Amino acid sequence: MSEAKPAEAWTIRKVLDWTRGHFEKQAIDAPRLTAELLLAHVLATTRVKLFMDLDRPLTKDELGTYRSLIQRRLAHEPTQYLVGHKEFYGRRFVVDARVLIPRSETELLVEAGLSVLPKDAPARVLDVCTGSGCIAVSIAAERPHASVWASDVSPGALEVAKQNAEALGVSSRVTFFQGSLLEPVPADARFDLVVSNPPYIPTGELAGLEPEVRREPHLALDGGDDGLVVIRPLVAAAAPRLNPGGWLALEIAEDQGARVKAVLEAAGLHDVRIEKDLARHERLVLGRRAPT
Ligand code: GLN
Repeated sequence: MSEAKPAEAWTIRKVLDWTRGHFEKQAIDAPRLTAELLLAHVLATTRVKLFMDLDRPLTKDELGTYRSLIQRRLAHEPTQYLVGHKEFYGRRFVVDARVLIPRSETELLVEAGLSVLPKDAPARVLDVCTGSGCIAVSIAAERPHASVWASDVSPGALEVAKQNAEALGVSSRVTFFQGSLLEPVPADARFDLVVSNPPYIPTGELAGLEPEVRREPHLALDGGDDGLVVIRPLVAAAAPRLNPGGWLALEIAEDQGARVKAVLEAAGLHDVRIEKDLARHERLVLGRRAPT
């Protein structure tokens, strides 16, 4: 006769059910999905495989590791930092607290950038404020003839970005520069595309953001008094560095479209347009240097 009845063990099913309930009570977003992502991480498996093994009991060590992740999640550490990665444009990017977690809206910026680049010819691209490198690396991976440069002021972010370029097989075509905006980039370089998801949240709004977002690097979010304090010098520095016909593409906050459009026009760019995201919020501003 055995005391350890299987029904009493902490099986995958039981752990997921319990965690979902607990996360729900604590108002953690996407309770069931979060539980699955964290447990799949602890068991070094995928969410799909969890379902094929719902009656598997966890070992004491696995339970211990899982419990500590649950505690950290309840203290508002983002799930992506806990599992160490985030899917972006069909690829897995390593992330940690040194970088902004890539957002699905930013995939639109990649899409817009790719749409102005030739598929089978060389092109030069610069990604300013590269963070995790998600934009630079995605563009390099999608355009094998492109040479991509990427800058960031944060040395820690660049370490993560380099790791991503390496892991995703594009490190020979992505060159990283540490410094503010275009300052570290050689002055004589010209680009067919300058792309950036700069910090654009007004400083006064930062304290009101979700606690998870406040765990992300302040530097990656803080756009100064009116949210445009990084965008203005970025546009001023990037516009003269475009090849004739070259594009500048920026991500913005939904209420910044008209103001940022005016900044691009004041910098002499043509065909300036605003694009909306899937939620119909203004999300991108694009403009180009006149083709000669
Ligand atoms: N380029 C990165 C991203 O889009 C980081 C942007 C940032 O740090 N502001 O996610």
